[in-house]
Amino acid sequence: MSAERANPSPRRRPVPPHDQRLSAFDSELVDRIRAAGNVWRIEGGEIFLPRAFGFCRGVKRALASLEETCDRHRRTGKRIFLLGQIIHNPWVNDYFRQRGVQLLSNEQRQRVEEHVRADDCAVIPAFGVPLEIEQHLRATGCEVVDTSCGDVRRLWLWAERAVRDGFAVLVFGKADHDETVVTKSRLAAAGGSYVVANSLDQVRCLCELIVSRADGERFRAAFGPQATNAGSLDAFQRLAQVSQTTMLYSDTMKVRQIVHEAFVRAVGQSGADERLQFQPTVCHATQDRQAAAVELCAAGPDLVLVVGGFQSSNTRNLYRLASEYARAYFIEDAEAFRTAGRLHTIDLETEKPVEVSDWLPARRPLRVGILAGASSPEIVVGQVLQKLADLLRA
Ligand code: SF4
Repeated sequence: MSAERANPSPRRRPVPPHDQRLSAFDSELVDRIRAAGNVWRIEGGEIFLPRAFGFCRGVKRALASLEETCDRHRRTGKRIFLLGQIIHNPWVNDYFRQRGVQLLSNEQRQRVEEHVRADDCAVIPAFGVPLEIEQHLRATGCEVVDTSCGDVRRLWLWAERAVRDGFAVLVFGKADHDETVVTKSRLAAAGGSYVVANSLDQVRCLCELIVSRADGERFRAAFGPQATNAGSLDAFQRLAQVSQTTMLYSDTMKVRQIVHEAFVRAVGQSGADERLQFQPTVCHATQDRQAAAVELCAAGPDLVLVVGGFQSSNTRNLYRLASEYARAYFIEDAEAFRTAGRLHTIDLETEKPVEVSDWLPARRPLRVGILAGASSPEIVVGQVLQKLADLLRA
């Protein structure tokens, strides 16, 4: 038997209807509010949900696939390893730990062959895994279940094609985010040069370096080894642009504009057209949740609570959007209310957890909006809604 046949590509199992597999994440309260037009009128105020929130198609597919794997191997007794968080939500990862899934840390998955044996099952999370880890995984001969999202795989394919067409790639995203770590590994494996910029200021800085043909030293001083695999800017005179799938769509379009204007200044319109490629890879689910969040926030709520994992990129961006419109707080779950009068949240500047007081305005009735990222389970949203309603009624 050839090595390829002994270690087949990860299988993408047909997933049964999501609603049959995902009942553990449901909330009756959320269902009732949705049926009532996304408004919950209670003594003390009104609580609003946006028209789109919570699990996206990619997350549902990944979780349903892992649920099915757990059910199947409860019978066979096979050990199940998850190669990183299935999605960025602590409640969901804890749920699968309780189902017996062993979650490998980033350090452990670097040495995946020390943990996973041929008779085990390994699950690739929704973000994918770096190519070198996937190769080591296949070499173990274990069963591999790939839950990576189709939108993420489309991003990889487009970026790899751009490399084959002779472009270096600008990834607008966070260099240490699970999805972008995989994107970088694939671009490097394709022989491409990449640079990751996390903010519009970084994009402006990169453009200035490219058009002024700055030397490699200046480039490397501005973009460290986590952000780029290139030693100089030579390859970046032809630039393809993608975004991590969960970035702000509005920022992604600004990135395109900043890069285009810089290249037009340097090489003229036709030169820019020839040297630039752009693919709007922010996924539809992210765009839809951001648009729905803006609609809710623009309606003028007194307060907005954004519910999701603190590590969740799409939820962090919902919080940033909401903060532009309203008094907003980012919380992980109903535990945020654990201290009377105080709210457990995070300072995104310092990445440190903080507790804030005076977060709940005293006047009644109060209008409160709730946003939830694509990785936020409705059961957690429901618990937040219930606790908030208790506080408004008190
Ligand atoms: S947020 Fe988008 S890219 Fe991420 S899992 Fe959902 S659909 Fe896929």
